[in-house]
Amino acid sequence: MQLPSVVLHEHLDGGLRPATVVELAAAVGHVLPADDPDDLADWFDQGRSGSLERYLEAFVHTVSVMQTAEAITRVAREAVEDLAADGVVYAEIRFAPHLLTRRGLSPDAVVEAALSGMAAGAAKTGMDWGLILDAMRQDDDSLDVARLAVRHAGHGVVGFDLAGPEAGFPPDRHLAAIRHVQEAGLHLTLHAGEAGGLASLASAVHRCRTERIGHGVEVIDDCTVRDGEIVSLGPLAADIRDRRLPLEICVSSNLHTKGWLPGDHPVGMLHRAGFAVTLNTDNRLMSRTSMSAEFELVRRHQGFDVDDLLAVTRTALDAAFCPVDVKRRLWEDVILPAYRSAGARGGVSAPAGS
Ligand SMILES: [Zn+2]
Repeated sequence: MQLPSVVLHEHLDGGLRPATVVELAAAVGHVLPADDPDDLADWFDQGRSGSLERYLEAFVHTVSVMQTAEAITRVAREAVEDLAADGVVYAEIRFAPHLLTRRGLSPDAVVEAALSGMAAGAAKTGMDWGLILDAMRQDDDSLDVARLAVRHAGHGVVGFDLAGPEAGFPPDRHLAAIRHVQEAGLHLTLHAGEAGGLASLASAVHRCRTERIGHGVEVIDDCTVRDGEIVSLGPLAADIRDRRLPLEICVSSNLHTKGWLPGDHPVGMLHRAGFAVTLNTDNRLMSRTSMSAEFELVRRHQGFDVDDLLAVTRTALDAAFCPVDVKRRLWEDVILPAYRSAGARGGVSAPAGS
């Protein structure tokens, strides 16, 4: 059974079709670790790598084949098509445009190529979408990315994010960029609490005033757990929960970078304790996943039922960087009827905006 879903955390350069990587690599002479799409999918499946740094190495190949406008447009279009085919009704896809300028494209041309691919995919599938631009936290050009995002606001770019290795690069290192997007009225989500510890998470929440948290799973380190449930919260965890700051949880991705088993992930505990949990794919290629696979994972290993899945979908819709009329249409026409037919009892009120 495929239920409609909302994905807020999905990387453009982490969701390519293996066959597309092979074709694009051949066109530009990039050498891949495998030339057969199935073998390449196995290589990209970074299961049990146990390290965020190792996981990020896989992006060398996808980024190398996305250096032309045609390639970027194709990858964006296919991402929308593949997400829609999996039941996703609204997706925010993110990427770092400055990684795709090696063959001479301007950052603006990179963004335009991605927007045109997203629009083409949406025209074909009817899926609603938004684009988020990432600055890489280890680089020094975040203000340029922030300005780029603001230039394309209103044309499909809805937010700004920091990606890349979290440890050693706290988000407030990029406060000028963050303030620039905030003052321009663009939305902000920040990768934090994935591998940078509680200090990085606190910086994203309190100094940077992020609207959503990319991953945020390390909030569990500020919680006391007894017999598989959260029994008390430290001050940071309490603040994140009580302000209902959305956590863009990516279960498969965390299992791979942290070496956890599916039952070890704290997503179920966080959801039951009242955190604003959403479920996401992060990188469909590297984590060999999809939204329906993420749903299945939490059903089988975290005790989620159809009402829990409706709740996380509703949380994601409320937290989406899109107009409230889009939220209401998706909720009333698509999401709620589908979950009701699947036996859900919850979800009465209409979205009121985020
Ligand atoms: Zn991510």
